Amino acid sequence: MPAPPSAHRLAPGSGALTGRSHRYEKRLSDLAGLYADGKAFDRLLGSGDRVVYAVEDVRPSAAAGDLCFGVTHMQPGRIGAEFFMTRGHIHAIANRPETYRGEAGRGVMLLESPDGAVETLEVAPETTIYVPPFWIHRSVNTGPDPLVMSFVYPADSGQDYGIIARSNGMKVRIVADGAGWRTVPNPAWRPRTAEDIAAIHATVA
Ligand code: ZN
Repeated sequence: MPAPPSAHRLAPGSGALTGRSHRYEKRLSDLAGLYADGKAFDRLLGSGDRVVYAVEDVRPSAAAGDLCFGVTHMQPGRIGAEFFMTRGHIHAIANRPETYRGEAGRGVMLLESPDGAVETLEVAPETTIYVPPFWIHRSVNTGPDPLVMSFVYPADSGQDYGIIARSNGMKVRIVADGAGWRTVPNPAWRPRTAEDIAAIHATVA
């Protein structure tokens, strides 16, 4: 039996979402190994295990055909030349898409396809980002303020975080460039094999 209709308010200032099902936080210690500058990471962690981002969602059910929607709050910050970012993932059922809408702050959605194509899309208020099926995605807060984004994805998508670790990171890193940002190659990146890509396609339900 589907859940009844419901209304939820995203507060413009705090980004708090009413009627949420879940909330989780990722702290700096959860993001160990993501950054090129390990010494800068350790220094920051030594000053406290701060919350880097928090996610609230509304998940009426996990059934195929249902939706999950919510909001991500990302703190501003830097580790060496890189910005605070999410761990990033591909959907466990990889042909599930997602949208993100900028609510406050500014950032970049870093996207990578299984065969190594890369896209960077700027996120800002009034901008909606479409993440197509089969794209790995990571959010990066490139601004000086909290980055707040609302999102929607199919409720049965799931998240595979290991796909990034298995390739030694994403193919490019986003680094500060004056007041802006640019991409630099990640020399440790390992291309996925035909077998790896077939395994991603085999998740399709
Ligand atoms: Zn996702």
